[in-house]
Amino acid sequence: MAFRGTCHCGGTVFEVDAAPETVTSCTCSICSKRGALWAYYRKADVRIVKNETPTTYRWQTRTVAHNFCAVCGCTTFTESPDFSTGEANFDNPLTNINARLLDDFDLAAVPVTVIDGKNLW
Ligand SMILES: [Zn+2]
Repeated sequence: MAFRGTCHCGGTVFEVDAAPETVTSCTCSICSKRGALWAYYRKADVRIVKNETPTTYRWQTRTVAHNFCAVCGCTTFTESPDFSTGEANFDNPLTNINARLLDDFDLAAVPVTVIDGKNLW
């Protein structure tokens, strides 16, 4: 069963096969303003079904693509290298979806992990 996420206007549609088991709330300067709850996936595990009005914001090192819908303004997904080792691994890219966009999904049942991005980066 695929889990489908859509932005408010429907211009962005993505699917994942595995439901997120946890989501992340990050306190860094951009995540705290965007309000997303992030679910991390390998790039190959996220299908971007429709991306009609994408806009990308990059800041600081410009390494991470913060995507949002230009029509309705919803934060949609980010594309980044894998930073799990502390280094940017471009051979193992991630697509991190905003789990708030998942339709027909009980997000309240998923535990939220808070990452102190404000002090980490
Ligand atoms: Zn939209």
